[in-house]
Amino acid sequence: MKCKGFTFYRTFYEKLPKTTPVTVGFEAVTPSLLSKIKGYQHVYQHSGNWWVINDSKRTADNLYRSYLKLKNVCHVDGVMSINVPPKRIRKTYDIWNYPKDIRRIALEESLRRSLRLKELIKNEVPIYCSYEIGTFDEAVEWYRKAYDLGFRYFGAGFAAFLMGKASFEAYKHMIDVIVGAKYALGYDVPFHASGVGSLRLLGILYYLGVTSADGSTPIRAALSYGFVYDRKGKSYRVRDLEKWSCECSFCSQYSSSELVEMFKRDYTSRVLHNSCLWDLVIGEMNEAHREGRLEDYVYNMVKDSRILLKVFNYAREMKRKYIRE
Ligand SMILES: [Zn+2]
Repeated sequence: MKCKGFTFYRTFYEKLPKTTPVTVGFEAVTPSLLSKIKGYQHVYQHSGNWWVINDSKRTADNLYRSYLKLKNVCHVDGVMSINVPPKRIRKTYDIWNYPKDIRRIALEESLRRSLRLKELIKNEVPIYCSYEIGTFDEAVEWYRKAYDLGFRYFGAGFAAFLMGKASFEAYKHMIDVIVGAKYALGYDVPFHASGVGSLRLLGILYYLGVTSADGSTPIRAALSYGFVYDRKGKSYRVRDLEKWSCECSFCSQYSSSELVEMFKRDYTSRVLHNSCLWDLVIGEMNEAHREGRLEDYVYNMVKDSRILLKVFNYAREMKRKYIRE
């Protein structure tokens, strides 16, 4: 039980308290961003979403330049290396079904860029050696390779797995990758799951030994779609809201009618609630972990969702089979 607990880095939003763990893409590090992120105590530098950024910009040298600027104004907890996706050969992103050779080329290229980043950053800050990777066997092979080359922090990009309608298959392969890494390198090895933000999924990943994650859900859902969440992971459209009760540290300062009125009027209040709610639930998960009852805690989180319960049962089966805590 050496695990130090779980950290969730959410998409940076300037009104969040400076103690909140936040993530920012290397490509977003501009003078204006730097003035806003100044003083933040836990910042995770993301290698940028590959479906948005031209691959020629996702270089170790560009990541390094952003890191140098960022570390001058805030505390950088870690840097995610470049997860190169396999060449898209069809519309669907079921990379675990792609030809092996196509996958290998991407994994090799990811590792090559990670090594370059390591040359530049040295041991100044944890570099999370990251892949776009989809099978247990590949995870065992490629995380071991990275370990042998001196990496001690690892990660994977999962956002594309969940695009569109998230299938059981996609969750299953996510679990296979995490369990593969833990099987190869030990349960205590730091592992960052990138691009996952749903509270209940975070519970399942933490149960498997994932130590940190980044995601946009609590922030983007509030800003773009006008959603606030409850602790069961259910989303509510603010404009339909009639009453509201929540025990998070933001909401407990206000009455139900004040909150409804504020959510409708002010984007920031939605973000602050969602962010505090994530912190509340993650705090409870960490406590449950310390007390050895995380499995029960996560079961209670997911039991009302047919698909997530199935995912959790698969996670339990894989953990029992391959991981020794
Ligand atoms: Zn709240």
